[in-house]
Amino acid sequence: MSAYRKPLPSDDPLLAPFWENAKAHRLSVQCCRACRDRHFPPGPVCPKCLSEDQEWETVSGRAALVSWVRFHRAYWDGFVGDVPYDVCLVALEEGPLLLSNFSGPMPEDPRAGLPLEVVFDDVTDAFTLPKFKVAP
Ligand SMILES: [Zn+2]
Repeated sequence: MSAYRKPLPSDDPLLAPFWENAKAHRLSVQCCRACRDRHFPPGPVCPKCLSEDQEWETVSGRAALVSWVRFHRAYWDGFVGDVPYDVCLVALEEGPLLLSNFSGPMPEDPRAGLPLEVVFDDVTDAFTLPKFKVAP
C-alpha cells in the first residue's frame, strides 16, 4: 500500500481518536460530556456550551446526502488518474456533517436526503478513510 499518492490526514492530535477509530472501522464524532452535543470536526471545547469535557462516541455510520460536487481537475498529482472524481457532504444520523467521498461511482440518482452508509477504505497501513455508499 506504499504506492498511495493522495494527501493523507494531518497529525492534528485533536483528530487522532477519529483516525484511530476509523482504522478499527468505527466512525466516531466528538461528544460533550456536559451537554451531550455531538460535533465534528472536534475542538478543544464544546461549540454549544464551551465545556472542555469531551469524549469520542462511535456513531451508526448511517447518513443522508446533503450535497456533492464532481472535480474535473486534479489539484494533487495523486488524483490525476481519478478525474473526474466526486466529493460528498453527508449529514450523519447523529447530526454532524462530514466531507467524504463516495465508495465507488457516484450514485445513479444523487439527491439531497439519499440514505447512505459508511464504508471503510484502508488506504495505507496507518490510515483508513470513511467513505459512503447508498444504503440498501
Ligand atoms: Zn457541551
